[in-house]
Amino acid sequence: MRGGAATAPMTLKKLLARAALCAAVLLSGCASGPVIDTRYTAKGQDSRAQFLILHYTQESLPNSVRILTQQQVSAHYLLSDESPPRIYRLVDENRRAWHAGDSFWKGHAMLNASSIGIEIVNPGPVPGPDGGKVFAPYPPEQIEALVVLVKDIVARHQIPPERILGHSDIAPLRKIDPGASFPWKRLADEGLIPWPDAARVAAQKSIYDDHRPDVAWFQQALASHGFKVPASGVLDGPTRRVIAAFQMKYRPARHDGEPDAETAAMLQVLNAPAAR
Ligand SMILES: [Zn+2]
Repeated sequence: MRGGAATAPMTLKKLLARAALCAAVLLSGCASGPVIDTRYTAKGQDSRAQFLILHYTQESLPNSVRILTQQQVSAHYLLSDESPPRIYRLVDENRRAWHAGDSFWKGHAMLNASSIGIEIVNPGPVPGPDGGKVFAPYPPEQIEALVVLVKDIVARHQIPPERILGHSDIAPLRKIDPGASFPWKRLADEGLIPWPDAARVAAQKSIYDDHRPDVAWFQQALASHGFKVPASGVLDGPTRRVIAAFQMKYRPARHDGEPDAETAAMLQVLNAPAAR
């Protein structure tokens, strides 16, 4: 009896398993595909998306759509300059879009694999009143739409504020988007990115006005912040580009790449946030 009782359920179990397998094969219509058992889920996992990268397209909406859907460059989202702005999803968030290229931030490289990219329709640098180039403004309603989108993405993927970045942050020698007219402060006001406390910057600046840090200090501080920057100790072209990228974000009124006292103060405050 005991043997029979033990044997019968096993046979039944095998039959059921075989029936399930046949059903799965019939349903999939593919005899060679594996049968996946999804009853277990690992605790040790997180989102593929660790960074959020912002860009401008430097193209009109029709051109942006054409380029980002038909060429070897793409983004997960395209935010239009229509009124009201429209958000197009071009690539599923679980897949890689090709927007970052050769890129680096704080030890992480080639960020396409680990980021979500948003392209914003904006012309970029345009002729200014004095013949020079100025960055075209972003309409407020476009930025409002962006804030809603960014909040949604970072909440779903648990992306921390210091990983919401511009293309110019992760590729400062190649890229200047989203440009000096992009309102990073607005994102900071929403709690989306870190921002240096103005009072602390002013206090630190008065110290650096008397003793400005040398170039090696700037390079070390920019590297601590996240940039890929040479450690040459001299104010070379790449170092100036990285300083300018930092300034475009935190002091867009002057982004000349000069290692001045205010820039040093902003870096110092961002790198050493006050204890909470
Ligand atoms: Zn870009």
